[in-house]
Amino acid sequence: MKRQFPMNCGLAAIFALAQATASAAAEPDPRIAGALREISSSRIQADIAALVGFGTRSTLSAQDPASIAAGRGIGAAREWIRAQFEQYSRDCDGCLEVRVDSYTQPPGERVATPTVISNVYAVLKGTDAGATPRIVLVTGHYDSRNSDNEDITHDAPGANDDASGVAVSLECARVLSRLKFPGTIIFLAVAGEEQGLYGSAYFARRAREQQWNIEAALNDDIVGGNRSAEQDTRVVRVFSAGDNDSPSRQLARYVAETGDQYPSTVKPLLVFRADRYLRGGDHTSFNEKGYAAVRFTEYREDYNRQHQTVRTEGGIAYGDLPEHVDVDYVAAVARLNAAALANIAAAPAPPSHVSILTARLENDTTLEWQPAANASGYEVLWRATTSPTWEHAQDVGARTRVTLPLSKDNVIFAVRAVDAQGHRSLPVVPEPKG
Ligand SMILES: [Zn+2]
Repeated sequence: MKRQFPMNCGLAAIFALAQATASAAAEPDPRIAGALREISSSRIQADIAALVGFGTRSTLSAQDPASIAAGRGIGAAREWIRAQFEQYSRDCDGCLEVRVDSYTQPPGERVATPTVISNVYAVLKGTDAGATPRIVLVTGHYDSRNSDNEDITHDAPGANDDASGVAVSLECARVLSRLKFPGTIIFLAVAGEEQGLYGSAYFARRAREQQWNIEAALNDDIVGGNRSAEQDTRVVRVFSAGDNDSPSRQLARYVAETGDQYPSTVKPLLVFRADRYLRGGDHTSFNEKGYAAVRFTEYREDYNRQHQTVRTEGGIAYGDLPEHVDVDYVAAVARLNAAALANIAAAPAPPSHVSILTARLENDTTLEWQPAANASGYEVLWRATTSPTWEHAQDVGARTRVTLPLSKDNVIFAVRAVDAQGHRSLPVVPEPKG
C-alpha cells in the first residue's frame, strides 16, 4: 500500500510522533512571554477606578461637553478611553491608530430618544502588507447600568460589568503595542451593550460591509473574579457558539491551547454553548455576522453585584463596586487574551480550501489544502469524535497534500499553518471532496 506520509510507519509510531509534536507546540515565543509579564494588576486597578469614577456610564447618560468636562457620564468615559489609547500610541511612536466611530441609534425597546453610540478602538496595524489584512480583536463594553436600565441619574459603577473587560482591552493594547505582528490587532471598547448589543452590532455590521477579515474576536465581559466565597479564581469560562467544529469552537480550543503555552494563574474553562441563560453579550454580534468569537466570563457571578443600584437593603450590600473585583484575576485573564491575540497575529493565515477526499472507500485519509502566506509548514490535527479538544498534532512539513493511515470515519481532522518561529494559525476543518 502506498502512503505519502509517513513512509513505512505504523500507527503507534504516528501517535508517538504526534505527541512529540504537540509538546513542541508548547514552546512559548519569548517576545510574547515578555509582553505578558508587563501586564499589571495595578494598571488594571487604576483603569477600573477611573471608569467607575465617571459615576454612571449608562449609554443614555450625558455626553455633552460640559458633562465631559465635569467628568460624569458616558461621554467622559469615552474621552478617557480615547486618551488612554492615544497615550499608548505616543509611547510606541504612533504605532496605534485611534478611532472613535459613532452613529445615532434610533429609538427602540431600551432607547427612548435618538442616542449617539460610540465605539472607541485602537488599531495596531499588521506589518504584512501583501495579504488581505488579517484581524484579531479584543473587546469589552464601557457602558454600565444599575437596577433600572433607564436610570441616568444614580451611580452605575460597573466595575466588574464591564470596566474589567475594558481594562483587558486597554492593558492588551498597552503591552502588545510594543511589539510588531504580521496580522492586525484591534483593541475595542463598545457602548450600548446593556441596551441590546448596539455598539458591537454596529461594529460587526460595518466590518462585514467593508469585508474585514476578522479571524477572531475575544469578548471580555464580567472578568472581575468577584470576591464572593464561592468564587473559583483558578478558571475563567470561555463560551463559544455553534456546533462542535464551528469557527468559534475552534477559537475556544485555540484559547485553551495558548493558555497551556503561556501558563497563567487562571485557566480557560471551555463551555460549549453561546452564553449563559437569560444573558447575552457582544461576541454574539460578531457571530451573527459570521465571525468566530468567544466570551470570557468569571466562573461564578454575584448577581447582587451586577446591574444593581448601589444600596444596602435587608442587610445586603448591592452594587458593582471596585472592592469586589480581584484585579490579579483580571490581569491573569488579560494575559490569556493577550497570548491568544499575539499568537494569532504572529501566525500565518490559516490554510484555505482544506479538503478531505471522500471519493472512495478506504481506511487511510487524504487531506489537501491551498498554501497559506508566510507558512513554513503545516500540521494535521485530529481527535476522537467524542473528544472536546485536539488530541494529536502531526508536523507534515511544507506539503499541501498528505495521506495518513487513520480512518476519517473514526476521528475529526483539521489543518493549521505554522511559521518558522512556530506560531500556529487557527485550525481549519476540512470539507468533504468527492
Ligand atoms: Zn456586561
